[in-house]
Amino acid sequence: MSRRVTFKDPLIRVRVSRVIFPKLCPVCGREANHTNKVVITPKKTQYLSLGPMTPYDRRRMGIPSPEVKTFHVYACEDHSLDDGGIMRLRAISAFYALLALCMLVFAFIFIGSDIHLGRPVTIWTGLFFVFVGAVMTLAYVAFRPYGLEAAFRVIGFDYDFQHVWLQLQNPAYRNAMIERNAMDAELVSWIVRGRY
Ligand SMILES: [Zn+2]
Repeated sequence: MSRRVTFKDPLIRVRVSRVIFPKLCPVCGREANHTNKVVITPKKTQYLSLGPMTPYDRRRMGIPSPEVKTFHVYACEDHSLDDGGIMRLRAISAFYALLALCMLVFAFIFIGSDIHLGRPVTIWTGLFFVFVGAVMTLAYVAFRPYGLEAAFRVIGFDYDFQHVWLQLQNPAYRNAMIERNAMDAELVSWIVRGRY
């Protein structure tokens, strides 16, 4: 089963082996000199295929299996990925989320025993839920696509991984991509997302 997905702003479909990234920042469109490694591990849901295709089908038809792809994308100083701040924030929020999850188990045990014994539920469990809410808000903010991640998104690959599909937020950057890759890129406004 496959699903047709339409995009308001067109995607760019470009040949992986020939792609040239313009020296512009995908976020703000300014001239850019910092290279950023964008590493993509194709996930099952990212395959864009002509139809559903199982790993068995791939092997049988001699179609290469997904492998990690690395793109070197330029960005300006302000929007480069090597900003460690967001990664630290993500690590911290992941730690608190894990802590909250552990505490959640205990909270349910305590609430359960209070109810079981006919006691009023202690005030601490209420405070705990405030803590969980705060942690979830932090995680939401930390894991939101940020800067370059939001402006330069890899939507997926063709079934044979010859072409990559990019969603570029900045129209100037999108046009520059098309210009630089005139022979190997095209705009597409819809894709068929395979089930696998
Ligand atoms: Zn920028």
